[in-house]
Amino acid sequence: DNAQPKKPDWIRVKAPGGEGYAATKRIMTEHNLVTVCQEAGCPNVGECWSQGHATMMIMGEICTRGCTFCNVATGRPDTLDVFEPGRVADAVQKLGLNHVVITSVDRDDLDDGGAEHFAQTIRAVRHRAPGTTIEILTPDFLKCGPEALEIVVAAKPDVFNHNLETVPGLYPEVRPGARYFHSLRLLQRVKEIDPSIFTKSGIMVGLGEDRQSVTQVMDDMRAADIDFLTIGQYLQPTSKHHRVDRFVTPEEFAAYEKSAFGKGFLMVSATPLTRSSYHAGDDFARLRDA
Ligand code: SF4
Ligand code: SF4
Repeated sequence: DNAQPKKPDWIRVKAPGGEGYAATKRIMTEHNLVTVCQEAGCPNVGECWSQGHATMMIMGEICTRGCTFCNVATGRPDTLDVFEPGRVADAVQKLGLNHVVITSVDRDDLDDGGAEHFAQTIRAVRHRAPGTTIEILTPDFLKCGPEALEIVVAAKPDVFNHNLETVPGLYPEVRPGARYFHSLRLLQRVKEIDPSIFTKSGIMVGLGEDRQSVTQVMDDMRAADIDFLTIGQYLQPTSKHHRVDRFVTPEEFAAYEKSAFGKGFLMVSATPLTRSSYHAGDDFARLRDA
C-alpha cells in the first residue's frame, strides 16, 4: 500500500512573505547563492527568512548522491566556484547574523570531498563577520582519506553538524551510498581532533523506524560524544520520494526530547517541524550564555 497518511493539523506552515523574507531572498539572489531552505522546500522558510536565517548550500546544486528523502538533484556537479566563499561571507555580513549555518551537496567527485572549499568558506566568513558563530553541516567524506576531515576541523567551525538522517536499518533504502557507522565515527573524530568544537547530528522520523531504534541512535550518538541533537518529522518533497510511513505525534516528540536530555545531550530540538538548522542560532546562543 503506497497511500500516504493524511497530514495532521500540527504540520502547519506559515506562507512565506513580508519585508524580512523579501530582504533575505534579495541578498541570496544578488550573491548568486543556493539555499537548502529552497532546494529542500523547507516548511519553515517563511519563519526563518523573515528573520534573515537562511542556510546556504555551497559547491553547487547537483549532488553525487541520491538519498531517497532529498529533493536535491543527483548528477555530475559543476566545477567549484572559487569566488563562492567570498560571496557567502559577504551575504553573512549583509544579513547581520549572529549565527550562520552552511551546508553543501555531497562531492564524491572531488578527491577531498570539498573539504578545502568548506575550510575556505569558514575562513572567509570569520574574516568578514568575526562576530558570527559558524555552524557547518557537512557531507560524510566517505571516499576521502582522513585528511579531508582534518582540513575542515582545522578551520575551526563553532559547531560541526553531520546528520545521520535515519536509523541504521533504513540506510539501504533511505541513504544509499552512506554508512551509518562511518557517519558516527566522523563526528567522534571531530571531537577527538578538537574538543572545543560542538558536534551535532539529527534524524528524521516517520520514515518507518520504530521507537526502540530511535533510542538506540541516541545512545550511539552519545557514545560518539555528540553534543546536540535534532529530530523532526520527515515530509515527502514529491511523490517520487520515500513515502511518509506515519506522522509522529507531538507527544512522542516530547518523549524523545526528554529522553535525549536524560542521555546527556547539551541541546535537543525534537518537534514535528524541527530541521537541522531550525532555530540553530537561538539554541546555540542560549547554550553559550548559560
Ligand atoms: Fe532554512 Fe533551516 Fe529554516 Fe528550513 S529550518 S528554512 S532549512 S534555515
Ligand atoms: Fe541530498 Fe545530501 Fe543526500 Fe545529496 S547527500 S542527496 S544533498 S541528503
